[in-house]
Amino acid sequence: MSDLRGRIADALASAAMHPDPNADWTDAVMGVVGPEIASMWDQIDRDQHAAMDAHAALARVRELHASDDDSEDAFCDHCRVPYPCPTIRTIDGSTDE
Ligand SMILES: [Zn+2]
Repeated sequence: MSDLRGRIADALASAAMHPDPNADWTDAVMGVVGPEIASMWDQIDRDQHAAMDAHAALARVRELHASDDDSEDAFCDHCRVPYPCPTIRTIDGSTDE
């Protein structure tokens, strides 16, 4: 998209040199901007799916590293260390040992 301004300028220059009675300046601009917007929406869609996949993966890890015991003496069902285990602390961003 870095050259978008240049491509719009080129489209406007071309429209000025070759006027089309069935098109206006907006058509010239949208001929450049429209595909750019569609491409951005596609990227947003891919990013959204990637975020949803990552969220689901974290939920699966949390499920694996859960504890059936909600007391202070709970242990991670997977690691068998005091809960929250290092995996859960890492996901939560805790640096506490
Ligand atoms: Zn664990």
